[in-house]
Amino acid sequence: MRMTKGFSTTLIHGGEGKAASLTTPVYQTSTFVFESAAEIERYNAGDSSAFLYSRYGNPTVVAAEEKLAVADGAEASLLFGSGMAAASTLLLGLLQAGDEVVCSAAVYGGTVQLLSEFLPRFGLTSRFVSTDDLREPSRVVGDRTRVLWFESPTNPTLRCVDIANVVSVCRERDVVSVLDNTFASPVNQRPLEMGVDVSVQSATKYLNGHSDVTAGVLSSRRELIRVVEMARRTLGGVLDPQSAFALMRGLKTLPVRMARHNSSALAVASALEGHPHVVRVHYPGLTSHPDHALATRQMSGFGGIVTLDLVGGQPAATVAFDALRLVKRAVSLGGVESLCSLPVLTSHAGRTETQLAAAGVSRGMLRFSIGLEDPEDVLADIVQAISGPVSVPADAGAGSGA
Ligand code: PLP
Repeated sequence: MRMTKGFSTTLIHGGEGKAASLTTPVYQTSTFVFESAAEIERYNAGDSSAFLYSRYGNPTVVAAEEKLAVADGAEASLLFGSGMAAASTLLLGLLQAGDEVVCSAAVYGGTVQLLSEFLPRFGLTSRFVSTDDLREPSRVVGDRTRVLWFESPTNPTLRCVDIANVVSVCRERDVVSVLDNTFASPVNQRPLEMGVDVSVQSATKYLNGHSDVTAGVLSSRRELIRVVEMARRTLGGVLDPQSAFALMRGLKTLPVRMARHNSSALAVASALEGHPHVVRVHYPGLTSHPDHALATRQMSGFGGIVTLDLVGGQPAATVAFDALRLVKRAVSLGGVESLCSLPVLTSHAGRTETQLAAAGVSRGMLRFSIGLEDPEDVLADIVQAISGPVSVPADAGAGSGA
């Protein structure tokens, strides 16, 4: 597949016999040694490929960035200590006081907080629009809009936004389009090839895939990456070399893992449709999903996230959640182990009924990140958890499913 090139060996020392490591060495150093003042002068003039200081750049981190650029089909990628460090550095690097960010309301809560609470302190404005509004992007972009930020598929209902449509308006209006591709990964969705300017991902999720690294990545054109790289030097949110090594190990199996996440999630989602305690299964690979046709057009796999809306609302969802045996109760997603979270207690905690309804989130929802276990085992665990008699209290209404 397309990404295989990204998995070639990196020989940082060249092939000098015994030191030719198959895997990329970890440069566990904060600083780099120079031979002379002249060498530093060459570095300062940009005439040297040497490294100066690990906050500016580190060979292990650069090796991971080069692999990610291949995976994303980008001219260049930049790594950060988390997805949020990537998001904040990108925006602080690109924007100036007076600029506006238009953002889909259906994005990660941390992104909403960054845009609604932090950036306005520095003279930047943000405006949130619904995924319905994004069907006509020309109506949401204003004169001061510099960035349009969106996710597809969205959390937890996996609604999809027509990426090509958003891109065409952003191009016309000179707005930088930013797609958070965390839920899809570059195996299932290729934003840059669809014309998106910047693909951002929490590498904490599928890219690393083992729930043992926190990281974030941006991929884009070289000139844009250069601007953000200067901001990263000052803001300091670069990834550390040990995490870059672990991320590279995870990346080696990304296509294989994604194929399994895709097939297991589709199998689990299909089997749960029609279960008497399930109001609705949200999975873009199902023909019943409202964006199935769009997802089929712009994705090559539907991912590993499956959301159930249970009959009996929050009481039933809580009972089912507590009854899981194999699937772990934990936030986050995209790892080897299957995880389950209750959106009303995590990603959408504290929202009013109106806000929940606007996000299409019901109190009876369980969000599953389907891992790499035998899908039959995962399905059996979910079925036993949702099938208990307590999960359908006689007096409880159905989840909204909206
Ligand atoms: N984007 C999405 C879609 C996420 O789900 C998350 C985290 O859950 C982030 C960004 C933030 O990433 P991180 O936790 O690595 O900072």
